[in-house]
Amino acid sequence: MQDSIVRLVGAAKAFPTPEGRVVTALDDIDLDVRRNEFLTLLGPSGCGKTTLLHAISGFVELDAGRILIDSEDVTERPPYRRPVNTVFQSYALFPHMTVGENTGYALEIAGVARTELRERVAAALRMVGLEGTENRKPRQLSGGQQQRVALARAIIGRPKLVLLDEPLSALDRNLRQAMQIELKTLQHQLGISFIFVTHDQEEALTMSDRVAVLASGRIQQLDTPRNVYDHPANTFVATFVGASNLFEGEMRGEELLASDGTLIRHRSGQAGRNGPATALIRPEQFFLVDGDTALPALDIELRQIVFVGSCFELFGYTGGGRAITVEVPAARREAVGAIEQSRKARIAYDPACVHLIQPAPAGA
Ligand code: ADP
Ligand code: MG
Repeated sequence: MQDSIVRLVGAAKAFPTPEGRVVTALDDIDLDVRRNEFLTLLGPSGCGKTTLLHAISGFVELDAGRILIDSEDVTERPPYRRPVNTVFQSYALFPHMTVGENTGYALEIAGVARTELRERVAAALRMVGLEGTENRKPRQLSGGQQQRVALARAIIGRPKLVLLDEPLSALDRNLRQAMQIELKTLQHQLGISFIFVTHDQEEALTMSDRVAVLASGRIQQLDTPRNVYDHPANTFVATFVGASNLFEGEMRGEELLASDGTLIRHRSGQAGRNGPATALIRPEQFFLVDGDTALPALDIELRQIVFVGSCFELFGYTGGGRAITVEVPAARREAVGAIEQSRKARIAYDPACVHLIQPAPAGA
């Protein structure tokens, strides 16, 4: 592909464990990262995210496969000969050096002249919102500001590619959310490709052009945040990205008979095949109804009602004992009040919103 900044072909890496077993960190990974893209690697701890970043930066040597950066095969090249910078979770700033010295370190090593160096440091700090902090020491900055210095240091040389390994995970929630938006904005302005690692699905959905969901060293799905959420490729992606109600059972025409006896209707336009399938209905796709409705509905017993500010979360069970989660907008507090006593609710859904997950047909 012409437009790819990074291409991995059949990338594989295994590590021996102290117990004498072998852990597959990367299992035959093919991946194309587009130029100017914000791509996020999302997955649980231990799924291979850091190994994948290190393979690209050159800190991990592959057992098999090739890595191309900007159409050049860099598989055999050491880290310092790859056009890549990495921002780590711990900011890794030099404590005895000023913010300005930290930011300009790589340019100074490369012998950039003093005046130009000063200008480029000022410009890089301006880009991350830290104008005029050149003479401070890292410890005189907050955690969020230190992480911005690390970012300024990574972008100052205008690399083609910046790798970010959980750079926001040490920050508190409000600061993290503010930084998410800033980072995304900055990436678009700079036109540098970002590969960003996180185990936080909300962060991945917020920031990315595309998300690669990883489990056990394999890419489960690579798609836009909306498609990953609305059309998860398998049940792992459905449960890892967002809350989900999964009904596993048998498809028959437009109906799925779930193992707890619930009948789910679907009309999503997906070509459902008769046979084993799982229907996904997100908690916010259910809504409370009062009595009769033209839409398919379920009756549930409520176990818990939790108010989380923007909505209510209802936790209940179907007659067949399947756990169900429903999200009700906070504006419907009267409807929630009405079911608080009875502990019973009728919930409906639009069959067009049901997403089907089916195993690939044999021979496909
Ligand atoms: P993540 O960043 O997604 O949490 P990693 O890429 O760090 O996951 O690790 C993937 C798997 O490889 C884990 O099981 C981890 O224990 C193992 N692993 C990673 N690096 C090494 C190493 N240098 N030596 C041995 N095992 C490793
Ligand atoms: Mg990691």
